[in-house]
Amino acid sequence: MKGLMQDWPLRVTTLIDHAARFHGDREIVTRSIEGPITRTNYKAVHLRARKTAQALQRLGIKKGDVVATMAWNTARHLEAWYGIMGLGAVCHTLNPRLFAEQLVYIINHAEDKVIFVDLTFVPVLEAISAQLPLVKAYVVMTDRAHMPATKLPNALCFEDIVEAEKGDFKWVTGDENEACGLCYTSGTTGNPKGVLYSHRSNVLHSMAANMGDALGMKASDAILPVVPMFHANAWGIAFAAPAVGAKIVMPGANMDGASIYELLDTEGVTCTAAVPTVWLMLLGYLEKTGAKLPALNRVVIGGSAAPRSMIEVFEEKYDVKVFHAWGMTEMSPMGTLGALKAGMEKLPLSQQIDVKTKQGRAIYTVEMKITDDNGVELPSDGKAFGHLMVRGPAVAGAYLKGEGGNILDADGWFDTGDVATLDEQGYMQITDRAKDVIKSGGEWISSIEIENIAVGHPKVAEAAVIGILHPKWDERPLLIVVAKEGETPTKEEILKYMEGKIAKWWMPDDVAFVKEIPHTATGKIQKLTLRQQFKDYKLPTASAAE
Ligand code: AMP
Repeated sequence: MKGLMQDWPLRVTTLIDHAARFHGDREIVTRSIEGPITRTNYKAVHLRARKTAQALQRLGIKKGDVVATMAWNTARHLEAWYGIMGLGAVCHTLNPRLFAEQLVYIINHAEDKVIFVDLTFVPVLEAISAQLPLVKAYVVMTDRAHMPATKLPNALCFEDIVEAEKGDFKWVTGDENEACGLCYTSGTTGNPKGVLYSHRSNVLHSMAANMGDALGMKASDAILPVVPMFHANAWGIAFAAPAVGAKIVMPGANMDGASIYELLDTEGVTCTAAVPTVWLMLLGYLEKTGAKLPALNRVVIGGSAAPRSMIEVFEEKYDVKVFHAWGMTEMSPMGTLGALKAGMEKLPLSQQIDVKTKQGRAIYTVEMKITDDNGVELPSDGKAFGHLMVRGPAVAGAYLKGEGGNILDADGWFDTGDVATLDEQGYMQITDRAKDVIKSGGEWISSIEIENIAVGHPKVAEAAVIGILHPKWDERPLLIVVAKEGETPTKEEILKYMEGKIAKWWMPDDVAFVKEIPHTATGKIQKLTLRQQFKDYKLPTASAAE
């Protein structure tokens, strides 16, 4: 027997409709690319999104077409998103940090017809536009006064084309399973692959993301998504915030400590989210200036493992609650969030931080398990680690155009490529990417755990651990360190600091000091490059074993 409730397709336009209707005057504040801080609200964004849809229609864009954006987090970007999706087209977010060849591949593979581009990235597209035969127009996201002289063919001015429209546009409707968003994985090996979100998956994900133990946003919150809209949906915030009418503070192009602090402070931000490198910059700024964070009550850290020392500083020194999160582009992107369970807030702070150092519990809609190499489920005892497998309505079922073949097992589980433990309470801890785990004497060593401890050393700015071939043990860990400015730590003092914090046989066999650690386009440590860089490295312990 079928239920008799209304058939109300879960389309992302319902989110911005809701925000405009019930939270119309709630602000969206932007550090604009042109410089000044600008202010708008949900009502105005809603209107201009409809104008954007009309402008795109005038350019010949129709339902199912793909329209790209290469832009920072700004109100204009939000208007473009909802305009594109509201027309029934697919919004393809381009990561400007990718190499030119990857961008050319992605734009052609996705068949982007129009690209919205921020002033900052006009030169990036100018360099490759000759190789983009399918792109009919480039919309530069600025006003007439700031329009650059550009070599881009058919370059249009955002404000001109949007403000030429009336906005009397009715969203294109249709099935909730229709595509509305596209984001390519950074693809450390092979070509990047397209994750194609549906209206339904994005709406369900935004509701899951808004639950109390997840982002837990409310109308009274002011959220600052430092995580870019071009990377994994800005962790869903551009959908989740309108669903509750939270104020959004958009950081534009400036992620340095001083700029982020200024927005946190002057805009009364209560909740913010970013990768650990951004927080390192902010904490460095706070330390230097002695500034405090009175309005901020929670910070979400994800994308890479949040080091324990970072969680401690936020919680103990600044009285800001840390929520460690894990997810991936293929998961829309949130998978887990590290909220405490009942009773845990009574634990001593150091034990609460033990829990928060883990990546958190699955949010509703995410099913999760760990398996061995043969696909057999492993126990949730906090010790066994295995392949992290996920399932759910906001998890990818396939990549665009079938790239990568069948990505699910017979029971519909997606292999995240991460290795993790799950404990009795459901908290998951990432040990490594499957391809980065160090195999020593038949056992696995977690590079992430060693890195997290090493960055706790007061003279260490960043640390990476890779496996180096070893004649006796197959592989042994090498710790690669970037020292803090003005500091010259020694190998001995770093290893001494780590003693007792990790198992003896996990201790790195050597420490190498470098000026810089390479990062991927999404800010993760590029282990592949490091492994190449250190491929001829001889560990001091190797000759002894030979
Ligand atoms: P992306 O699709 O670019 O967001 O990358 C997803 C990958 O980032 C995951 O599969 C993890 O390997 C890694 N990742 C994300 N969040 C965390 C975290 N909190 N701790 C460790 N690794 C993480």
